[in-house]
Amino acid sequence: VCEHINICLYLCRLIKIPEKTLKTALGIDIGGTNTKLALINASGQFLKENSFPTNDYPNSNSYVERLISEIESFLDHNEIEGIGIGAPSSNEKSGCIENPANLPIQGILPITNILSTHFDLPVYLVKDANAAALGEYYFGEGKKVNNLVVVTLGTGLGCGIIIDGKLLRGERGMAAELGHVPVFYPGRDCGCGKKSCLETYVSARGVVRTALEFMAKTNENSALRQIIPAELDSKKIHQLAILGDPLSIEVLAFTGKVLGEKLAEVMTLIEPEKIILAGGLAEAGAFLLPNAKLYLESNLIITQRNRVQIELSKLGLNRAALLGAASFLFDSYQHINKQVILP
Ligand SMILES: [Zn+2]
Repeated sequence: VCEHINICLYLCRLIKIPEKTLKTALGIDIGGTNTKLALINASGQFLKENSFPTNDYPNSNSYVERLISEIESFLDHNEIEGIGIGAPSSNEKSGCIENPANLPIQGILPITNILSTHFDLPVYLVKDANAAALGEYYFGEGKKVNNLVVVTLGTGLGCGIIIDGKLLRGERGMAAELGHVPVFYPGRDCGCGKKSCLETYVSARGVVRTALEFMAKTNENSALRQIIPAELDSKKIHQLAILGDPLSIEVLAFTGKVLGEKLAEVMTLIEPEKIILAGGLAEAGAFLLPNAKLYLESNLIITQRNRVQIELSKLGLNRAALLGAASFLFDSYQHINKQVILP
């Protein structure tokens, strides 16, 4: 150690070099397809990112082992405040992910307990779509929008609602499960065990199911028919729509219609100022939005018409959820939306 270290420290204090730069936190977004991790500072800058596939694991234990090893690679050189996790079917109060429809996790996984014990850091768990709503509210298109609905269109459909500047949590943080509200009867089987849930139509997987159904019921010529059904995904449908394939455009327009009709019910109940669509399928927003707006407005009572704005997230793929999850570790963002953590 340099013998002049005390003089250096004295000089540092004298010229007021801050002892610590901005706080950083690890945000984690557990999605049905990928798990994303990002080291984020309090001003919302991404300092390091990584992701790994969620579905390659036979059970909860093997998934958690991989998650821990990925987190370790972020802790090497950085001093972090803690970990914020956004995941589907999250019980904020118990810190458990409970019976998720689209994850390789069976039963109840006490994820905050496991990670906080392993890393000796504070760990917060929030429903993935609630994390996205907070991300938009603090850093995105929802800034200062006190009545805000964020719909995440990924493997499934998630929803986070902010009312009067406060996250709508419900009793355990599991409110606003819009993806599992029924749309048609008898409808399609959902991963949650129910039938006809909205996400079986309006999600990356739902769009594929619609495309397969549409192909089966018509003889319409379409480039979709050249794709092996097992290899069909929402990105390919979107790409074909861009190229002008009529059936692909029809599939996305139908998806927009189903979404719009359900958003009309959301509007009727809680009257948000803005609805933001985020997640992978929102990339196809140009094909979804016209019908989503049309069927939203045409299903509203006259006093509520032409008020709500629908926009696409500008934070980029799943960044909202990472930002919102990390925000729990930063004091400046906790004053309104602080969680109640049970001991
Ligand atoms: Zn469901």
